[in-house]
Parts: sequence; structure tokens; C-alpha cells
Amino acid sequence: MDLAAAPPALLTRRHLHVAGDWVDPSSGDTIAVENPATGETIGEVPAGAPADVDRAVAAARAAFPGWAATAPAERAAHLDRLHTTLAARADDVARTVATELGAPLKLATRVQAGLPLLVLRSMVELAARPVAEQVVGNSLVVREPVGVVGAITPWNYPLHQVVAKLAPALAAGCTVVLKPSELTPLTAYLLFDAVTEAGLPPGVVNLVPGTGPVVGEVLAAHPDVDLVSFTGSTATGRRIAHLAADRIARVALELGGKSANVILADADLPTAVKVGVGNVLVNSGQTCTAWTRMLVHRDRYDEALDVAASVVAGYRLGDPFDPATRLGPLVSAAQADRVRGHVDRALADGARLVAGGPDAPLPSRGHFVAPTVLADVHPDSALAQEEVFGPVLAVIPFDDTDEAVAIANNSRYGLAGAVWSADEDAALAVARRLRTGQVDVNGGAFNPLAPFGGYRQSGLGRELGTYGVEEFTEVKAIQR
Ligand code: NAD
Repeated sequence: MDLAAAPPALLTRRHLHVAGDWVDPSSGDTIAVENPATGETIGEVPAGAPADVDRAVAAARAAFPGWAATAPAERAAHLDRLHTTLAARADDVARTVATELGAPLKLATRVQAGLPLLVLRSMVELAARPVAEQVVGNSLVVREPVGVVGAITPWNYPLHQVVAKLAPALAAGCTVVLKPSELTPLTAYLLFDAVTEAGLPPGVVNLVPGTGPVVGEVLAAHPDVDLVSFTGSTATGRRIAHLAADRIARVALELGGKSANVILADADLPTAVKVGVGNVLVNSGQTCTAWTRMLVHRDRYDEALDVAASVVAGYRLGDPFDPATRLGPLVSAAQADRVRGHVDRALADGARLVAGGPDAPLPSRGHFVAPTVLADVHPDSALAQEEVFGPVLAVIPFDDTDEAVAIANNSRYGLAGAVWSADEDAALAVARRLRTGQVDVNGGAFNPLAPFGGYRQSGLGRELGTYGVEEFTEVKAIQR
């Protein structure tokens, strides 16, 4: 397929995927899907109703005993087939994500379509070997699949967030009902086209598109859902934890972040700042792990601001399908307004504008926000404390390492972070002191087997690798 070709035309999907079939929804209500680069409606999907959730959960429940009893090698073979059928759709995934999210096509191809395939590949291997049993004294400790999983996912990485739940849940022997984000449901349909072609047993995975307040709430509160695996905002995560608490259902929550990028005085500053700015701007800043607070030693502070401004100047905003575009729009008008509000408030709070800001030029249509760098951001200010989820970097100076660690940990979040230093031991020592689930030293490199998740209000539990599979298990001790 020609990746440079125009975006997919109006995309309309009329069905849910339940018990192995494309089935009619119980109501005729629909949700319009928008192209955020133009503001135009590009398609629609059914707005699922409570009865649709009941039907999908019943299908997942019926499929559970058989799937849980399926030999690991056979489950791995199913996931392997799914990898093949999804890989065959990688170009379509990239073009669909570019269209319904606005991610530039190059990023959509490499990350939005490529990353889920990498994760799925890792899960094929993990599925083949059962989670290890352990002998503890006279006990045999075994892990068993937790049951029916309700998966609720966001729009920012619409395929990756789904695969990061669905693949380990299936590897562990669970069955799944998925509710994707109503802003980017079309990508999930491509996954279920791949599921159909791969021939997964009926009911093992089910798709009910819809809104959070209807399908999301009913799924999270459903008495026959054993574990709710959610990725999204901390506010919604809190609501889901409340709903699950009523029946003591398990929850796994991947929530927001306000991660710090700590650049020590001896760091390779041009690289640290360039990579740091790129990390914040990728996907238009709509990445939960984004290093949105850049903490720079005061001796290198002015130099860092100069580098940041020149890096930002190289970013071109525009049509996601134009190969020259590096920054697409935000997902929605509401999201763009929220981000602009954060910038305005930061300026009113005394931050200094280094690049971008309210007056920077923008494409004539679409939900664009200029990449923005703000200096002298107070560590307690709203911009340093609240998740912006847009292309906005806060730069904060520090005088010594203890102060840098204190500023980094001055957050209700604890998802990710970075440390840069010419002395790797010094960087590792700082990494150990950060209260976050992930830290990259001198750039790191993505590892699909590393546990992913947050401390504090960034979430509960871990995704990816063996940790991600174990999330979908219960532990049983058998005494002999
Ligand atoms: P969101 O919380 O609004 O929505 C996420 C999902 O929850 C959507 O499918 C939505 O329909 C559903 N939902 C909304 N209200 C619900 C309710 N009352 N009950 C059940 N489900 C409901 O988040 P979003 O705007 O889609 O995503 C952005 C947020 O997600 C950001 O805050 C970001 O940090 C976070 N995020 C976290 C991670 C992570 O892994 N930690 C990854 C991506 C995004």
C-alpha cells in the first residue's frame, strides 16, 4: 500500500465483535469519528449500550474455561497467528492512526503500528512457557488466570494500549472484553479484523465500542468481570477503582504522569536536551511517560534553553500525511483548548516563554498547538504539577543533585523519568532515588520485556514482560 496516499475515506463500522462474530449492536446510536487535522467527520462506529456489554461479558465468561485450559503452546500459536494477521495490516493501522489521532505518518508507522507488533511478538514467546511455579517449603505456589478481563483504553496510542492488555491477558489464559477510546475506535476494528482472520476461539476476545460513561462504567462495574485493566486519566482511574471496589474486583491502572528529565552538570547537554525535547513533543505531547519537566543544573541552564529553542524551531506542524510534518494536531478541540489554558496559566504564574506560546503561527485548520518551551517554571506551580498532555516543556533549574531529586519527586505522579550524566554510576544513583516506575539513563532504549507502570497516582500494577502476564493471574498455594 502507498503510505503517502490520501487518508482513508469515510470509515464506518456497524458491528460489535462478540463470541467470534461481527454482530449488530442493540441500539442504532452511533459515535462520529473526527480527523483532528481537519476537524472533519471521517466515519462512525456503534455507541454500545449496557445490553451489549452484558452480551460480550457472557461470551467471555463462556469462553474462559476452555481458553484457561488450553495448552500454553497452543495459546502461543494463536497469538503468533494474530501477530501475522496484524502485521499484514500494519500500513492500514498507521494510516488509520494518522487519520483518527493525527499522528504524523512516519511516527504512526514506526511507533503506533510497530510497537504493538513488538509487544505482541514478546507475548508469543511468554505465552509458550507457563508462568513459573514455585516451591516454598511444603507449598507449591501456582499461578492461574484471573478470569474475565474488562479492558478500557485511551486514544493516545490506540493500538499499543490495547495490545499491552489483550496479549498478556490471553497469554495468561484470560478472556477479554475491550472498550477502546471513543476518539480512536477505528484502529481497534483493524485489530479485530486481524483477530477474525487469525481464527481465535469464539468469545476469547470481544469488542464493544462506546463512551466511557456508558460502556466503560457498565464494564468496570460488571459483576462477571474479574479484573478491570484501565489506561487513561487519573480521574477516570479513580472512578474505576471505586466501581471495582464494590465487588473487590482486581484493577490494573496505568494513569497519568509528570515525569522529570534530570540533566546533571557533566551531561552531554546537546544530546540530553535534544532527546528530551523530542521525548516531550512526540505524538504532540500526548504520551503518559513524557519527560515534561526538564531539570537542568544551573551552570548549564542558559545553554540548555538555547538548545531547546533551536530544536523546537526544527519541528514542522501540519498534515500528518505530509512527509515533512513532525508534529500533528492534538486529538480534539477540547484537548487543544486545555493545553492552551495550561500555557496561559503558566505565563500568568511567571514562567518565561522560550519558544512557541499563544502567538506562534499555526496551520489554518485542525486542533494544533505550537510546541512550547517555558523556562523558570516554579516546581510547585500548576505547570510543574499537572499533566498537560500536549507539546509543552517546563524547564526548571537546580543547584545540586539533592535538590534535583527533591524537585523530581515533588509530584503526585511517579510514572517515568530520565537522568543524564557523563558518570553512569552517578546517573544510576539518581535513577535509584527517583520515585517512579521507569527511568532511562543517558537515553536508555525501549525494552518490551521491562515492567511498565507507575508509583503513586500514576497507577497500580505493571504491564509488559512477565510482570504484565502475572498481572492477569491469581496466586494459589497448595500445601503438601
Ligand atoms: P480518559 O480517562 O478520559 O479515557 C480513557 C478511557 O476511559 C476511554 O476509553 C474512555 O472512554 C474511558 N472512560 C472515561 N470515563 C469513564 C468512566 N467513567 N468509566 C469507565 N471508563 C471511562 O483518558 P484519555 O483522555 O482517553 O487519555 C488521556 C489520559 O490517559 C492522560 O491522562 C494520560 O496520562 C493517560 N495515559 C496513561 C497511560 C499509562 O500507561 N500510564 C498511557 C496513556 C495515557
